Amino acid sequence: MTTWKSLLLGACAPALLSVCLAAPSVSFAQAAPVATELSAKPKYGTFGFDTAGMDRSVAPGDDFFAYANGGWVKATEIPADRGSYNTFSVLTEVAAERTRAIVEDAAKSGAPAGSDARKIGDYYASFMDEAAIEAAGLKPLRPELDRIAAIKNRADLSRELGATLRADVDALNATDYTTDRLFGLWVAEDMNDTSKYRPYLMQGGLGMPDREYYLDASPRFQELRDKYRAHIAAMLTLAGYDDGQARAERILALETEIARAHWSVDATGDMSKANTVWTRADLAAKAPGIDWPAYLEAAGMVQQPTFGPWQPSAISDISGLVGSQPVSTWKDYLAFHAIERGAPYLSKALVDEHFAFNSTALAGTPQQRERWKRGVDNTSAAMGEAVGRLYVERHFTPQAKAQMQEMVKNILAAFDARIDRLDWMSGETKAKAKEKLAGFRVGVGYPDKWRDYSGLQIVRGDAYGNWERGEAFEYRRNVAKLAGPVDRDDWWMTPQTVNALNLPMQNMIVFPAAILEPTFFDPNADAAVNYGAIGGVIGHEIVHGFDDTGALFDAKGNLKNWWTPADMAQFKARGQALAAQYSAYEPLPGLHLNGDQVLGENIADLAGLASAYDAYHLSLKGKPAPVIDGFTADQRFYLGWAQNYRSKFREASLRRSVLSGVHSPGEYRAQTVRNQDPWYPAFDVKPGQGLHLAPDQRVKIW
Ligand SMILES: [Zn+2]
Repeated sequence: MTTWKSLLLGACAPALLSVCLAAPSVSFAQAAPVATELSAKPKYGTFGFDTAGMDRSVAPGDDFFAYANGGWVKATEIPADRGSYNTFSVLTEVAAERTRAIVEDAAKSGAPAGSDARKIGDYYASFMDEAAIEAAGLKPLRPELDRIAAIKNRADLSRELGATLRADVDALNATDYTTDRLFGLWVAEDMNDTSKYRPYLMQGGLGMPDREYYLDASPRFQELRDKYRAHIAAMLTLAGYDDGQARAERILALETEIARAHWSVDATGDMSKANTVWTRADLAAKAPGIDWPAYLEAAGMVQQPTFGPWQPSAISDISGLVGSQPVSTWKDYLAFHAIERGAPYLSKALVDEHFAFNSTALAGTPQQRERWKRGVDNTSAAMGEAVGRLYVERHFTPQAKAQMQEMVKNILAAFDARIDRLDWMSGETKAKAKEKLAGFRVGVGYPDKWRDYSGLQIVRGDAYGNWERGEAFEYRRNVAKLAGPVDRDDWWMTPQTVNALNLPMQNMIVFPAAILEPTFFDPNADAAVNYGAIGGVIGHEIVHGFDDTGALFDAKGNLKNWWTPADMAQFKARGQALAAQYSAYEPLPGLHLNGDQVLGENIADLAGLASAYDAYHLSLKGKPAPVIDGFTADQRFYLGWAQNYRSKFREASLRRSVLSGVHSPGEYRAQTVRNQDPWYPAFDVKPGQGLHLAPDQRVKIW
């Protein structure tokens, strides 16, 4: 597919944060002591990868994932509070424990009112104060429910929809397509002119993850729809509404109509369709139904002359439903979603019902995460860079930064040399590709300039209000960007996030501090393992600039074709071969990967790993690579890569990932080694083995 993708859309990516929120168990005052850092870290072999986690009874040529990770898969149980578990989850736990110490220290520090530390501490302490939350009951939600109850006509309805628009989606950077609000706003560079911003409007409005959940006729999805209907009724009943069943029936019917209007994940990644510009007048002409003047006034965008409907027909059709469906149904719909969104910050009955559907039914997760983990996540989501600033002060060294910058430089150089060697690309296109690469900017650890939270009001004892004000603050920050110059250094991800990013319109790659940890990166580890692990990640992010979507953006980040037609045809054909290879994988009986939907990520893995391999060998500067504990350097390199992607899924979570994710499950990401020529001699892979590909079947793109 075609979106901009981060390294991994984890089980707790921002879009899914509410899904991942889990159970209260300890109050702030009684919080258990923080586990020591060492006990939270995985155990490593002496030279950087986990030999005990391998399964050497499997031939690497038959199943490299199992060879590299089979021991870990057998020994690992998915924690009860997770739908899946992987290397990212392990590091996320480490980052969460560190962040907990930061926010708890902030809560105890008595920092001056108005300071970031005070706000962080107050936000967290308020969320942890379950007694106060229980005592408040539905009171914090009341103003919003009263406003909804007072809606009398479509102008009122449009005003409410506009007032609750939030900057909660991201089409190209951190890649988050979903919002349960009717639309999501993404303020980013104008694709045609990256010197200014465009407000992109993305489809939303669904309480379940994807349109298939509403439209697929199979029993599995029918069962989920039954559970969703019951969940809607239960939430409304808990909030004091009568006739929950009938309301739920109408809400589900309305969401099913919204789902019909929705574009698929694959179509959403098509830049040619996403690059649409509407004027304010176009909104009324092309998307009738919503009272747009009322909507925009309430959204604080009455002066905005142009908009970018990301999925234009979906924006039109959803707006049409605002005009055609009964106002009373919309009021029920808005009330349910207000309760659903606010539930994690409200009483235990709402928290538990929210979890039972969103995490257990949808992802198979049996148990809620401890309350402090949810508190840390929520605080981090509301004040990400303020928390991040304290995080890097404690946990990121200048040495790690310097070593990472050196590796990035080497891998960029290796990729540049690969462009020179391509036998299928004309000199003309190569020159443009090299120009784009030369313009790459690199962020390591943390942003150079920190965000200002002085306008955010946090009130101790008001967990729900703090969350709501945090969302509104972030929204206003984004809308305000429309008036000013473009910030080319915006990071889009916090330093305490275990992930990495390519920002296509900024021509920039970003590696937050929290991923620069073992097993991805260890300043003391063997270089072959570091290049296979974090080097593969660095290569991955570089190549996103040249995957099926990245290749459409030029050196300035504009959506502008720089390819000759013949070169583009070759590039597409090679991409299709890779898509076909992945579409053949069948993670669950009858459920294949959609090779087009995951294509960008797989191009990034394929060429990123190849570039990291080249860079490792260049880094040896002619010296022979050492053999360590019986493993050659090339073996350690590929094992380092495969151990990045160790993972286990519950069935529901795997299904959701395959249906709505842009990444292949980890197992298949590890197996991309079968396209790399040096992997064959490294592990003596022979024809007839499960992963063997004849040389002309191995996909080579960059
Ligand atoms: Zn990626």
